[in-house]
Amino acid sequence: MTKQYDAVVIGGGPAGVTAMLYLLRGGAKAALVEKLAPGGQLLLTEHLENYPGFVEPVKGYELADNISRQIEPYPHDKFYSEVKEIVHAPGANRLLIGDEWVEAKVVIIASGTRHRRIGLPEEERFIGKGISFCALCDGNFYRNAEIGVVGGGNSALEESLYLSRIASKIHLIHRRDKFRGEEVYVRKVLEEPKIVVEYNNVVTALHGETLLEAVTVKNVLSGEERTLPLQGLFVFTGFDPVSEFLPADIKVDERGFIITDTEMKTNLPGIFAAGDIRSKQCRQVITAAGDGATAAHSARLYLESLNA
Ligand SMILES: Cc1cc2nc3c(=O)[nH]c(=O)nc-3n(C[C@H](O)[C@H](O)[C@H](O)COP(=O)(O)OP(=O)(O)OC[C@H]3O[C@@H](n4cnc5c(N)ncnc54)[C@H](O)[C@@H]3O)c2cc1C
Repeated sequence: MTKQYDAVVIGGGPAGVTAMLYLLRGGAKAALVEKLAPGGQLLLTEHLENYPGFVEPVKGYELADNISRQIEPYPHDKFYSEVKEIVHAPGANRLLIGDEWVEAKVVIIASGTRHRRIGLPEEERFIGKGISFCALCDGNFYRNAEIGVVGGGNSALEESLYLSRIASKIHLIHRRDKFRGEEVYVRKVLEEPKIVVEYNNVVTALHGETLLEAVTVKNVLSGEERTLPLQGLFVFTGFDPVSEFLPADIKVDERGFIITDTEMKTNLPGIFAAGDIRSKQCRQVITAAGDGATAAHSARLYLESLNA
């Protein structure tokens, strides 16, 4: 028999788990679907300095674990599987989870983002063999090595600082002449002697037999190319939405992020979105959690309207 829920939440990151907390405390029959491990991108973050309530930096995995444990006292279902399709029908949405169809009156999509690639043809060959998207996961492989970090936002800056405690030298390769990240991280990066900032540079080629051995960078102003002997390259050039399973008629922006109103409603009645998957400016843990709470509140009002 098809399982039926008031709500199914897609994604076990801070947005999805916060939505679950609010739904469950409100008495909803809800299920959480997570295809990897609960915590989402928090598991890729060494520590957070900007999450309110923690005077000392909190470790990403600790915060993830605490948020997940907070929903445990409330009865709910969990699927450690992937949502592959959503068929929207107001009040009776159908979701394909793994190879099982379930039904939900409301759906909260909190599927987050994935790392953008540099865009070089040989890149896929070096992923896991020199190219990484997670300093916390792979940094230790590059102890005392000369490595590169690509990007100019908070992630690139934070991760360069983390890697500076492991590697011997870091080339921070940024295509502009100014960083996009917060001033506090910019200052720390510029003060770190192990980090050499390669402003106005882009990566144009990757070299190596099996493992990455060197990287060619090009100065976008002068056109000068140099080959740096880098054994590792950590890429933080932005994020794309995890959106392949979305209903075809859901409204998204030009980059594929879901458009919602301030109450997290999408254009499809009964379908809400929360966290980094939304079209918005500020993608952080606190905003993801806030979206999750708002989405759950809107979902509860929608469920009440179905019963009215
Ligand atoms: C290296 C790094 C450092 C960061 N540092 C900070 C920081 O210092 N402070 C801060 O506030 N923020 C930081 N962030 C950003 C923060 O982690 C994100 O904004 C936040 O995790 C977004 O939460 P989310 O729940 O929307 O999405 P995510 O955390 O991305 O979680 C989405 C979850 O959905 C799951 N999922 C996706 N598709 C499916 C599917 N089809 N079926 C089932 N499950 C699915 C994924 O497996 C994932 O677990 C950092 C991010 C990175 C990568």
